[in-house]
Amino acid sequence: MYSDVSLFIDGQWGPAANGRTIDVVSPATGDRIGSVPHAATSDLDRALEAADKGFRTWRKVSAFDRSKVMRKAADILRQRVDAIAQLMTMEQGKPLAEAKGEILAAADVIDWFAEEARRAYGRVIPARAEGVYQLVIKEPVGPVAAFTPWNFPINQVVRKLSCALAAGCSIIVKAPEETPASPAELIRAFADAGVPPGVINLVYGVPSEISEYLIPHPVIRKMSFTGSTAVGKQLAAIAGAHMKRVTMELGGHAPAIVFDDADIDTASKLLAGAKYRNAGQVCVSPTRMLVQEKVYDQFVDGFLAHTKRLKVGDGLESGTTMGPLANARRIAAMDAFIGDARQKGATVRTGGSRIGNKGNFFEPTVLTDVPMEARVMSEEPFGPLAMISPFRGFDDVVTEANRLPYGLAAYAYTRSAKTANAIAAAVESGMMAINHHGLALPEVPFGGVKDSGYGSEGGSEAIEAYLNTKFVTQAGL
Ligand code: NAD
Repeated sequence: MYSDVSLFIDGQWGPAANGRTIDVVSPATGDRIGSVPHAATSDLDRALEAADKGFRTWRKVSAFDRSKVMRKAADILRQRVDAIAQLMTMEQGKPLAEAKGEILAAADVIDWFAEEARRAYGRVIPARAEGVYQLVIKEPVGPVAAFTPWNFPINQVVRKLSCALAAGCSIIVKAPEETPASPAELIRAFADAGVPPGVINLVYGVPSEISEYLIPHPVIRKMSFTGSTAVGKQLAAIAGAHMKRVTMELGGHAPAIVFDDADIDTASKLLAGAKYRNAGQVCVSPTRMLVQEKVYDQFVDGFLAHTKRLKVGDGLESGTTMGPLANARRIAAMDAFIGDARQKGATVRTGGSRIGNKGNFFEPTVLTDVPMEARVMSEEPFGPLAMISPFRGFDDVVTEANRLPYGLAAYAYTRSAKTANAIAAAVESGMMAINHHGLALPEVPFGGVKDSGYGSEGGSEAIEAYLNTKFVTQAGL
């Protein structure tokens, strides 16, 4: 069912010029399930040439027609959801229901940006003299290079791809080598919908080799990256040296603040649900649960109860609510975080270990009494690890929430409108969800501040990053 993946360059699916491939491994079994081509420099050159040509074609297609093709791609994706979800679960590990949810959400993202294509308005500025017209015109920035990770193989691509196409840009996507088949199916949906050759190109290989080649290349006018802060800083430096537009969606370490007037049952249920989604390999995953002293024990009990109800297993099996971690590196990372926290005095309330010795299964884990010096209190866990700590008052919790250089998502639970307003204003983050989880919809901004990056991948802000502003002033003859 899982077949080898191809590169997609200038409208053609095919192998790398040098025939090299990279194995794709099942996170549930550790077995090789397929391969993905390892692009050679000549493949990247072909992709650049195609993107250059594709841009010239696509920018001339009217926004109305671009929108129609995009909507068709969204419909194709919806029709193929079951088959693509199987591939995603096989290569990434997440339960089938989560894979289907991701694909259907991607179709909604495409629809949203298809509509934004038709709303990329300029404006007319009143002139100082009669007969003068001052026009602000929005133009596509040009060919885009996009680099996307393995945690949401389709959703991380679709936000960049849809923005680029809506704006009239072409794109080269460097999708994740560990989860290559599902993003390839996303791109197939666009190709089948009628996007002309060269407008979308898909490559895989060694990430650093590809980014270092594409970003400085004169054909590329913009880059967008989702991944870790460390890599994001390297790529932003390359982009800066070559004056390329940049969108950066990087790591986070989200505080989830539970005040003592909150509905504690709802808070523990929703936060545990969010914590273990995609086995915690989510940039907006709540990681530091900060709970006011009076309700701390009640919250811990509720959170533990939800954690223990999870069924860890192969994502293809019905009933599984948490799949394996996507790669063996995450197992090593979890072991190191937990070992370090334990050694510094943390209590493992549940979980803490790998499950079995085949595949990347790990127990959903809750840590309490975690000292601030423990690495996991400052480094992004990116796995099924929750730390719960008590706090005394508003100022203390704001200090803790803002302690880290990250500023992506934050969560708060309170029944007080005054506290809700105050915490939304005080926390340094790009997104804040209060009393529910409403992040990452296509129509709302999605992005971080501080070391979590800059730019938005959602809402009407997102398309701006793919547009140049041109000013034209014209006087009558
Ligand atoms: P990593 O930092 O090596 O890679 C993260 C992603 O960046 C991968 O998709 C990788 O292919 C890509 N990448 C790495 N170096 C690159 C380069 N020079 N040029 C272009 N792309 C490059 O780590 P990893 O082990 O794959 O993932 C672990 C960490 O990455 C996590 O701890 C988490 O912080 C971060 N991450 C974040 C997201 C997110 O949604 N923001 C997604 C996946 C991983």
